[in-house]
Amino acid sequence: MKLETDVAIIGAGVAGLYCALNLPDDKKIKLITKSSLEMSDSYLAQGGICVLKEEEDFDSFFWDTMKAGHYENNQASVRQMIRKSPEVVNDLISYGVEFEQKDGKMLYTKEGAHSTARILYHRDITGQEITGKLLAQVKKKKNIEIMEYTEMIDLICYNNRCSGVMLRSKEGVIARLEAHYTVLATGGIGGLYQDSTNYPHLTGDSLALAIRHQINLKNMNYIQIHPTTLFMERTGRRFLISESVRGEGAYLLGSNKERFVDELLPRDMLTQKIYQQMKKEGSKHVWLTVAHLESDFIKQRFPNIYQRCMEEGIDITRQCIPVIPAQHYFMGGIEVDLYSKTSMEHLYAVGETSCNGVHGANRLASNSLLESLVFAKEAAVHIGSTFEKNNTIKPLADGKVYENYEQIKAADKKLILQEIERVNQNEQRNITQNKCG
Ligand SMILES: Cc1cc2nc3c(=O)[nH]c(=O)nc-3n(C[C@H](O)[C@H](O)[C@H](O)COP(=O)(O)OP(=O)(O)OC[C@H]3O[C@@H](n4cnc5c(N)ncnc54)[C@H](O)[C@@H]3O)c2cc1C
Repeated sequence: MKLETDVAIIGAGVAGLYCALNLPDDKKIKLITKSSLEMSDSYLAQGGICVLKEEEDFDSFFWDTMKAGHYENNQASVRQMIRKSPEVVNDLISYGVEFEQKDGKMLYTKEGAHSTARILYHRDITGQEITGKLLAQVKKKKNIEIMEYTEMIDLICYNNRCSGVMLRSKEGVIARLEAHYTVLATGGIGGLYQDSTNYPHLTGDSLALAIRHQINLKNMNYIQIHPTTLFMERTGRRFLISESVRGEGAYLLGSNKERFVDELLPRDMLTQKIYQQMKKEGSKHVWLTVAHLESDFIKQRFPNIYQRCMEEGIDITRQCIPVIPAQHYFMGGIEVDLYSKTSMEHLYAVGETSCNGVHGANRLASNSLLESLVFAKEAAVHIGSTFEKNNTIKPLADGKVYENYEQIKAADKKLILQEIERVNQNEQRNITQNKCG
């Protein structure tokens, strides 16, 4: 089967959706997702989205991001993200996104390693609010066709130029989608890990294809472990206890129920402290508590976390929450420039699968939704303003066969993990602490 479009966008999280909305209306777009539209990490985001709330905060925002990233960040990317944040937030508000307000003024919250409150939020379901509203806008657009349960399994490329993707439906039907431009927005890599806050179908598919087609990657070993996810004896996706809970005053306690750490350290440092505490005590988890805060405040500020913990038999207004670190975010990815262009012609990458260096070695809390949105718009505007037809589409795929799906997926996973390990070995460091499943 053969399909055609002007722009193929692979992934329907905030990055893919916002990119689609910012492309010119006269371009035909196909938006592809391997699962349902609601199954993206973007929907799971709890804490919020950073914004430059006033010009005076620029330097402080910049240096908080740099410090959290161990000063390995690309400074131009950080500046661009902060500078464009008000524009992106205004777009969101124009789409109907509601952020918390009091007396007509925006409310800002604070999370670890932020020196001031600069995070907009919608209860503890900010991702659902933003992604749901973006999706509603996308569905109104006549030039955007959505294909759910359709997986990108390969890139069509020739002479370092991308001219579309190979797709596989959930019934196993293979199709060739020819596109003048392709945007990879496939999210993170949590699906490769036993303990992760991410959806299991997010397995870094774009990275495997980048390795196969010699597209440049960057910081492949920069993997963020979130310090506080709900501990459960059973395996499966780990439920996040948002950093904003600590931002609002939660305490971390050891098995003796005493505080052992500054709860607002950057994520990587706090994770190390928790691992050290667990090792010292020989425990499977540490405790997090908000029981000293007002019960009504907890229920109103964190309704989702309250509800989810209740389902596990924990009333967080009275009881401590058992928490452990788990894989959460991928700072590395497909190397891109400030327009989100990859090293392959006509191929862009946005959101968590890309690496423009904004996060350096460690992401500052609530910078991810923002970064995904800012650089997705950059990609869309760049494609729109430089659009040229791709005349190099070649007959596929040199006789390639895609029937052996399970084997291809297993090989892809191995490729990515080997690459992470190779970079780790080269740099003699091991940031990835939890086991791959
Ligand atoms: C629990 C949790 C809480 C978070 N909280 C926050 C927060 O408060 N603030 C913040 O800034 N960030 C937060 N983050 C991080 C942030 O949500 C993500 O980094 C961001 O949403 C990534 O967006 P994305 O569009 O790149 O990817 P995603 O939203 O993950 O979307 C990826 C899309 O790609 C599709 N896909 C993947 N592979 C393929 C393939 N082969 N073929 C077709 N489709 C494919 C998926 O189906 C999905 O539609 C949180 C993350 C998690 C997991």
